[in-house]
Amino acid sequence: MATNVTQMRPRNRVRYLTRIDQLTGIPEKDREELAEVEKKYVFRMTDYYASLIDWSDPHDPIRQLVIPRPEELNEWGRLDASNEKSVTVARGTQHKYPDTAVLLCNEVCGAYCRYCFRKRLFMDDNDEVSLDVSEGIEYIRSHPEITNVLLTGGDPLLMAPKKLLSVIERLREIEHVQIVRIGTKMTAFNPWVILDQPALVEGLSRLSTPKKRIYLMNHFDHPRELTGPVLEALDHLIKAGVICTNQCPMVRGVNDSVEVLTELFRKLSFAGVPPYYIFQGRPAEGNEPYEVPIARGFRLFEQARRQVSGLAARARMAMSHEVGKVEILGLDEEHLYMRFHRAKFTADRGRFMIFKLDEEAYWLDDLIPASDVGQNVRRHLSKLRCNRVDLHSESPSA
Ligand code: SF4
Repeated sequence: MATNVTQMRPRNRVRYLTRIDQLTGIPEKDREELAEVEKKYVFRMTDYYASLIDWSDPHDPIRQLVIPRPEELNEWGRLDASNEKSVTVARGTQHKYPDTAVLLCNEVCGAYCRYCFRKRLFMDDNDEVSLDVSEGIEYIRSHPEITNVLLTGGDPLLMAPKKLLSVIERLREIEHVQIVRIGTKMTAFNPWVILDQPALVEGLSRLSTPKKRIYLMNHFDHPRELTGPVLEALDHLIKAGVICTNQCPMVRGVNDSVEVLTELFRKLSFAGVPPYYIFQGRPAEGNEPYEVPIARGFRLFEQARRQVSGLAARARMAMSHEVGKVEILGLDEEHLYMRFHRAKFTADRGRFMIFKLDEEAYWLDDLIPASDVGQNVRRHLSKLRCNRVDLHSESPSA
């Protein structure tokens, strides 16, 4: 059984494991096979997170999340499934929706989620991340329409606190930047980054002002991640005036069940970390074993939402596609209903779409439109596939 970490772990003693052979819970013959996967898609986790795994259960959900699987080597998907490169406007800086910029400011995470859609960032020859965000900050300064900046990567909470706080301070000097969001899974992988670094919490508190808040976009996939130390860390952040919320993908073998999603939504909302998005997994290379078809995922999501309070039921299920963030609204015996929640192109803003129900579809590109409205999107998609439209050759939109 998993160890009771809430009772045993001395503070600030989290070790990072970077080789499968450091995990004695995996039989030696399996370790050899997984070493092949590890060569292609890097492995890393904390010993704290390893202590949450029930090693006697080969299907343990926490294990599925971080331990490689041979099926990752199956031919499937693209490394940059949403073509993030096409919205890269400066080193480590993406600008897809007018009011939001993304700074990829760190290239390391506390552990590597096997289903990560940005696993290309952790490969040796990738240069999309910039540890020096100066170029991105200058870009943001010269674009007054940007009111939101998302710090992500990699995981910003793995940066030295001084460095992270100085990035936020520089953003705070820009009048038009109101919201700073930090995307992180460190609260799940190593809550001691919060518990043992009071200077970080104090700095975040100082920079999360009544008029301009800092949002921490947590990433909890399973209720078992919400341990005692994690809840304590979240409590510190909430008391410091940081707005906490949660977003995660639906991952096969981890949270693709009504019971798990319901418990996750409930526990998060009880802790003051309301669920915000459940994402459809992007068809990224190596992710085949973790994907859930859209229709099945949406049914699970809907059933879970019906069992939680209104606060938890505010979560939306969405797909971060190259053309925008598409919300899955509903389905019936014949159709899937969707709407652009955020759109890259002005013409798509708020667009409602109807597609033929396809139980095997994993992504927008797999769906066949059932109306003229959908047909327009289809044309858009095929245009993108043929031409890879440059963001600045057409008017971007939110
Ligand atoms: S924490 Fe986020 S960026 Fe890092 S590996 Fe997991 S999904 Fe990818």
